[in-house]
Amino acid sequence: MDPAVLTGITQSVSTGTLPGWERVDELVREAHRRHTDERSGTVADYIPVLAEVDPELFGLALIESDGGLHDAGDALHSFSIQSISKMFVYALAIQEHGHERVREIVGVNNTGLPFNSVMAIELNGGHPMNPMVNAGAIATTALMPGATSVERWERLRDGLSAFAGRSLGLDGVVYASEAESNDRNRAIGRLLRSYGRLEGEPDEVVDVYTRQCALSVTAHDLAVMGATLADGGVNPVTGARVVSADVCRDTLAVVASTGLYERSGEWLFEIGLPAKSGVSGGIVAVAPGKGAVAGFSPRLDHAGNSVRSQLAIGHLSRSLGLNLFASAPAAPETTRS
Ligand code: GLN
Repeated sequence: MDPAVLTGITQSVSTGTLPGWERVDELVREAHRRHTDERSGTVADYIPVLAEVDPELFGLALIESDGGLHDAGDALHSFSIQSISKMFVYALAIQEHGHERVREIVGVNNTGLPFNSVMAIELNGGHPMNPMVNAGAIATTALMPGATSVERWERLRDGLSAFAGRSLGLDGVVYASEAESNDRNRAIGRLLRSYGRLEGEPDEVVDVYTRQCALSVTAHDLAVMGATLADGGVNPVTGARVVSADVCRDTLAVVASTGLYERSGEWLFEIGLPAKSGVSGGIVAVAPGKGAVAGFSPRLDHAGNSVRSQLAIGHLSRSLGLNLFASAPAAPETTRS
């Protein structure tokens, strides 16, 4: 479908192309191979069951906007999506309620504090500030349409499944483990409610949020989901429109400034791509108009971002020229006056 049908206006978009399929495939394999020996970082253990994962797992996937697929290593290994769900739920919320309403309710600025900070809420008069940290993500989940929390959960799961191009299932073990140990998120839900910033019953909203984090995905799925945001909202594998092109632009702007928590500035400076990470070890980075790269490896840095995934995605950003801020002169300097 022409984006103009949904947005009412045809916009200019950033451009650029990837080299041919074979070259991309070679570089994906190289990025995976180069960083397999990296063993720094630690596996998350604050959700008890996550501590049991094999730390050696390492998958990498790249999906091109034209549907080209590339998988390396454990790209088809399943893990819980965790915080990466925030970016896709945010996209669904903007699609449903519009740019302005979601901006007002949730906000778009970086808190500069850890993802599960309670202080960030207190410092900002109860405003969640940002949809990529838990407070803002919980407020965003509350915006899912539906008369009951079961309906809201189903809408959310269907929406994320459309991004992935397949029906995503709940990892019941991860859900049960987090539901038993998520006092902090429940406290955040209640705090938001006490400030009048949360629609709905806080425990129910946090339950839907806990479920969304326990959806089971692979690095390949994450790359398809990201590639949908790189492709103006159309899933490049199924051809189905999931959200409008404007929603992709809004979502990626927020993700660029906050997707890797308090390391987001450093990431954008070094790698130059909007990317979102999760505590189970996934990261997805989106190159608008070109495609998306997703990594999965469980060892994390101090902010909660997968170490190997960052290295492999960084490698591809450089070798494929994905950095959004990089340019070269249009004409050789000597031909100008
Ligand atoms: N479910 C996790 C939480 O809410 C997600 C956190 C993350 O991936 N950083 O704490």
